[in-house]
Amino acid sequence: MLRSSEFEALLDLSARIGADPELVQGAGGNTSIKEGDTLWIKASGLWLAEARARDIMVPVALDPLLDALERDDPAAEKAQDFVIEELNPSGLRPSIETTVHALMPQKVVIHVHCVATIAAAVQTNAAAIAAERLAGIPYAFVPYARPGLPLARAIGERIDADTAALVLGNHGLAVAGDTIEDAALLLVDVSDRFAGLVRQAPAADLQALSRLAVNSAYRLPEDERLHDAATDLESCRIAAGGSLYPDHVIFLGKGSVIAAPGDTALSVEARFLEARETLPPALLFPGKGVLVLKDITAGALAMARCLSDVAARIPASARLRYLTDAENAELLGWDAEIYRQQLNRAGQVLQ
Ligand SMILES: [Zn+2]
Repeated sequence: MLRSSEFEALLDLSARIGADPELVQGAGGNTSIKEGDTLWIKASGLWLAEARARDIMVPVALDPLLDALERDDPAAEKAQDFVIEELNPSGLRPSIETTVHALMPQKVVIHVHCVATIAAAVQTNAAAIAAERLAGIPYAFVPYARPGLPLARAIGERIDADTAALVLGNHGLAVAGDTIEDAALLLVDVSDRFAGLVRQAPAADLQALSRLAVNSAYRLPEDERLHDAATDLESCRIAAGGSLYPDHVIFLGKGSVIAAPGDTALSVEARFLEARETLPPALLFPGKGVLVLKDITAGALAMARCLSDVAARIPASARLRYLTDAENAELLGWDAEIYRQQLNRAGQVLQ
């Protein structure tokens, strides 16, 4: 398929953003470009980092999707019904955040889980912080809503034709521009404005962690930054308070599991097995570091790193807005729903 030079430039930008863990972790974040009546959006579950290695963009019919949003049609939630199948040979599914991109009128939209922005967006006074940092930028602050239709409605209520940036409470950032360059420059500008002090965490106690992992389903992570969430006691306290943004819940589960004094990975594991609960992908040992499941997924590893990066940027004095029990449950239930549907579809193919 012949693609415009702008489309190619978007793929380059996507791969670059996707390779930066301070902007995008795992399959999170997405980019889009509107060409004529078609919205090209990153596919659900794929990584922006792979933008140059494989097909990651899905074509969606923009006007019918916007009409559906206007009617509050539940089909707008996944946008799957609006995929232009003849331009989608890989059979990709559009991102669950497609509506964010559709609602912004600019040609190019970039949505990231920028850790500096998230560190501000999880504070109770996030709107005031955004107002102070983003003076002069036409932006809107959108309080937390579950990604999908609820987030689309919240955005729709707060943007106008000039809005070029969205600060999404307990979630992240979206920027838009009429060219790739405009959007890319705005991304740098906004993320720089949210940048602040990053606490340096003490080194992990790798020997102690190795002993704590003996005979368990857990191991040391390769990426030493993962330990920061546990070796920095302020970050550990922040993590202990609960979940702060959706991808944490979807990839790591509700909140963080902090080992008690005297715990080993095996003793924590035994408690979870006894309660018939799935093992948490990561265990935080305060002051020592983090152990991860031997079979942890790449997505969960990326989110465990994200926890260190976000927590290190939250000032110790900040008051935080954690996701509520209902918000956690809604995310977990919603994800499970998608998973069930995928299994269901796979089953139909087999029949
Ligand atoms: Zn997002």
